Amino acid sequence: MKIEKNENQDYIIRATAANQQIRAFAATTRNMVEEARSRHDTSPVVTAALGRLLTAGAMMGSMMKGEKDLLTLQIHGSGPMKGMTVTADSRANVKGYPYEPVVMLPANDKGKLDVAGAVGIGVLNVIRDMGMKEPYNGQTVLQTSEIAEDLTYYFATSEQIPSSVGLGVLMERDNTVKQAGGFIIQLMPYVEEEVIMALEKKLADMHSVTALLEEGKTPEMILRYLLDDLDDHGIEVLDTIPTAFYCNCDKKRVEKAIISIGKKDIKEMIEDGKDIEVKCHFCNTAYSFTVEELQEILKQAKSK
Ligand code: ZN
Repeated sequence: MKIEKNENQDYIIRATAANQQIRAFAATTRNMVEEARSRHDTSPVVTAALGRLLTAGAMMGSMMKGEKDLLTLQIHGSGPMKGMTVTADSRANVKGYPYEPVVMLPANDKGKLDVAGAVGIGVLNVIRDMGMKEPYNGQTVLQTSEIAEDLTYYFATSEQIPSSVGLGVLMERDNTVKQAGGFIIQLMPYVEEEVIMALEKKLADMHSVTALLEEGKTPEMILRYLLDDLDDHGIEVLDTIPTAFYCNCDKKRVEKAIISIGKKDIKEMIEDGKDIEVKCHFCNTAYSFTVEELQEILKQAKSK
């Protein structure tokens, strides 16, 4: 699919390189991460952590094939942010929320937002629901809690795919999102040793993803920079996939959630005699229900 590339459209590039010994994804996600920031009103370190996981979710979502496939990335950590949940579908619609939106921490020893400090020690859960009986579930222990390295470790141990993951979020002075993006590079089982060595050298020499984006590099330029001269074949760009923050909630879904809490609790809400407001976790949209609406909902609820 070809799309118009403008500043307001986030997208992912899918490519292969070195005669298909490598598959790669790169994304620019500034708008998605800014949308998440404004919806959840996150502090900078939380914006960075959530933005990195949203960016990874977008690329990993687009690796899935089925229309209804759903990817969930969950991090639970001991840090003040406590963790976050991100979901993505195969069309790279992504949504997510932090468990604690406002965390203030001093910069780390590199002068950067201390994502590892905000997340703390913990685990990463990757759940892929592909419409089978049992969803695939891979859990790994967080290695650095900086997100990219944790996903690299996940791919290596849970999926046995040697990978390199780069993720970055850069803030404006006013704490809105200036740049966000990332890449995932994966080695196929038959990759030659020379290609691996050439790639490792490239990765060691590169600046951060956000530095490349700040230089004006697009996702395809980032992949060309990393992969085009590993061997004589160069890279082949396969696809451009639009991606965005998107939540599919509506009042009907929220109603179902209220029904599921059971008769007793709904009765208590009705007895309070006030309208209630329920917010969607993922996008923070508020839905209000009148007492009359709650009485209708009560009829559909079961006693618990
Ligand atoms: Zn929502």
